[in-house]
Amino acid sequence: MRLYVHWPFCLSRCSYCDFNARVCDESRMRGYMAALLAEIGLWRGLLGRRDTALSSVYIGGGTPSTLSGEEISSLVGGIAERFGLREGAEVTVEVNPATWVAEDYAAACAGGVNRLSIGVQSLGDDALRLLGRKHDAAAAMRALAKATGSGAASVSVDLLLGVPGGDAASFLAGLREVIAAAPQHVSLYALTLSVNSPMSRAVRRGEVAMPEEDEVAEQYLAACAEMEAAGYEHYEISNFSLPGHACRHNMAYWRREEYLGVGAGAHSFLGGYRFHNTVSLLAYMRSVSRGGLPPAEGLEYVGEAEGRAEEIMLGLRTARGVPRGILAHGGSRLGDLEEMGLLAAGGGRVHLTARGMLLSNEVIAELLPA
Ligand code: SF4
Repeated sequence: MRLYVHWPFCLSRCSYCDFNARVCDESRMRGYMAALLAEIGLWRGLLGRRDTALSSVYIGGGTPSTLSGEEISSLVGGIAERFGLREGAEVTVEVNPATWVAEDYAAACAGGVNRLSIGVQSLGDDALRLLGRKHDAAAAMRALAKATGSGAASVSVDLLLGVPGGDAASFLAGLREVIAAAPQHVSLYALTLSVNSPMSRAVRRGEVAMPEEDEVAEQYLAACAEMEAAGYEHYEISNFSLPGHACRHNMAYWRREEYLGVGAGAHSFLGGYRFHNTVSLLAYMRSVSRGGLPPAEGLEYVGEAEGRAEEIMLGLRTARGVPRGILAHGGSRLGDLEEMGLLAAGGGRVHLTARGMLLSNEVIAELLPA
């Protein structure tokens, strides 16, 4: 069993953000923490005799590090008490560089956290200001040093591609600084703007220019080459790790394993059903405080055909790819995509090349059953 825990509070709203998050408020956070533990307890009761011992826990957000290291530690303790943690379970927490001091890292790791995901996003101060981040590049590197010195088995860094004002050279300079700090894992995501974000409005007013697609593609391909040269495996479209440090929790999503998500807006895949909790913090807390599960939304049974389509969509995101047989309906398109250098085959499996990963949406759409 795997558990995702959503912490929907942040220090402030970043200019590009479209996540389910709001600015933190002490009393709300306390109430929400109580609701989270209550929801986890409710699920434990509902799952009855099922073995709920967790192979991985991922505490994401939002900004979970608006909680102290001690508070994260007691949350992990509360989860372990209710569900159980398997020996060697991966326990990740996302950390914003503007939050924790060294003692927080130490307390979280002492409480069972063994994977830290640091939201560096950029190592350019202008870019960080534009993104509305509450830290500068120096603070991000200090946070990374604290994380790598904390004793966590794995440290991951998130970086954004395609930040306005940057180019491939400045992106690579930042990436090289990150690599020099020796995290075990790096995630690279293209900056996407929600329609109503402040940055999106600034783009519409012509005050900020987003880079062209070709520029972002150049950054991505240069980053892939740089990461591979530094010994990182490109194991998923956006993710690179040193051997043995792929994120096991996220790998489970791409393998279509079951997981439970708790907290406002958290998604689950359980018993063949996909659903998510209400994103409304108030509705979430109200239901749980009355002893009921939060309202589930988007409930959908994943049948055989949908399951196969998911297997293709999610499997092709990873370097492992999918068995060739599952793409039998693809006919000559498979060969065409291989000739174009977007797909590669081996050992009875098919996977995307780095160029294919860059065009993953288009390539995967070509390979889905009609
Ligand atoms: S980008 Fe992350 S830290 Fe910034 S507001 Fe969104 S969830 Fe919070």
